[in-house]
Amino acid sequence: MLLTKSPFSNADVTDGILSSLPDFNTLHSAILTSKSIYTVFHDRPHSTIRAVAFNQIGPALPQALRLVRCERANLWLRPVDELLGEDELLKHPVITSEEVRMLVEKVKVADALEDLFSCRYKDKRFPNSQLTAVESARFHSAMYRLWLFTSIYGCQGRDDDDEIDVEAMRLIETKYFASLTTTQLREVERVVTFLIRLSNSSEHTYESHYDIDNFSPQFSLFNGPHAVLKAHLGDTSWVNSDDIENFDSMGIPDDWLTAVISAVLLDRNQREQAEKILLDEVIGEDDRCISVGPEKYADCTSYFVRDLINLLDWYFTSEIFEPLGMIPRLKSRLQLNVFENGEFRTACKSMTYPALLDEVFEYKTDSYSQWDKNDWLCKSCLEKFVTDHLHLWYGAKWQQQTQTIRDDCWYGYNCRTQTHNMVHAKKLNHWCEPTKGDA
Ligand SMILES: [Zn+2]
Ligand SMILES: [Zn+2]
Repeated sequence: MLLTKSPFSNADVTDGILSSLPDFNTLHSAILTSKSIYTVFHDRPHSTIRAVAFNQIGPALPQALRLVRCERANLWLRPVDELLGEDELLKHPVITSEEVRMLVEKVKVADALEDLFSCRYKDKRFPNSQLTAVESARFHSAMYRLWLFTSIYGCQGRDDDDEIDVEAMRLIETKYFASLTTTQLREVERVVTFLIRLSNSSEHTYESHYDIDNFSPQFSLFNGPHAVLKAHLGDTSWVNSDDIENFDSMGIPDDWLTAVISAVLLDRNQREQAEKILLDEVIGEDDRCISVGPEKYADCTSYFVRDLINLLDWYFTSEIFEPLGMIPRLKSRLQLNVFENGEFRTACKSMTYPALLDEVFEYKTDSYSQWDKNDWLCKSCLEKFVTDHLHLWYGAKWQQQTQTIRDDCWYGYNCRTQTHNMVHAKKLNHWCEPTKGDA
């Protein structure tokens, strides 16, 4: 009889196991595996849900729950003293299933952003987060505190028809940030800086998708961190061109967020940005640009560790290549080619920078043979690499797409005639090395 007894008959043991599960997906699967497990869960669901919420969301659970509850209570545009507090979990410890759904949605976004943050600022060698548990908790808390702000005072909270008193709004926004301690505010500021950089890198995606020239990176931030992440991933489905136009008419300043945060910090005599906010240690601080190429590149800025870039974070290349800015990177007179500049621009616009650079990398010439995608390059050396290979990439792409083979112009990319003679520019290939000097 003893052998047939279920090992899970002890409800406390089962409860202990359920409470230690890492996330709600696992909890859900576990509950469905047997009736006895379901019964144990059913008898004490609240404590189990709270425990799993803590396991999945971590020490930032109070900030995440506050965000979720403020959203569910529709507290749009309310001043901070009318919002729910970070003590919600203590005051109302029962987490509903809808709250669980929202918490999971948010932590997934925060986790994905943490990976990107880690790769850029903590340890460039890994695409997934290398933050310590403490750093990760700080990052998540700061992210949810910022998220609450963008949610309550950003796009979601604003009704298109309402006239907003800009001055009154500014005061309400200031009060929100003033409610944080200086350390918390510094952490939020760091997250904002990171998200703005990420938004900048997606400007290109939107301008090409909506065929507009004035996409403001503030727009995705105004919609919240989840929008910044989607924008970064090239997902344009969350927004339409009307929203972008409405945003323009709202008159949100370019320094929305940063101006308010800076003002609060300044008010506290906190001028200088402290070095290591959020992070206790940065890995690879001694890394240097490997300065590849035909000869050591004179403009190499190898000692600026933060400026080093490799394949893993090519998404930050918008800092180097302004949107639609690949034409200035073309070699020699290709920049002025009268026939193909338009098509070249379109080809670049249709891809994200990482995808584009990934393809360009495939045309790596022998001079760069010692460079691997995982090695670090400074901005100057990456620019040089792009200039040395962009024409090779596009020449091959053009040929593939048009299924046309043209004779190479003797003067290749140096040809002067391509800059004013449409017939010549059309007839010959200029995306090649010159075989004759002086065009
Ligand atoms: Zn360099
Ligand atoms: Zn020519």
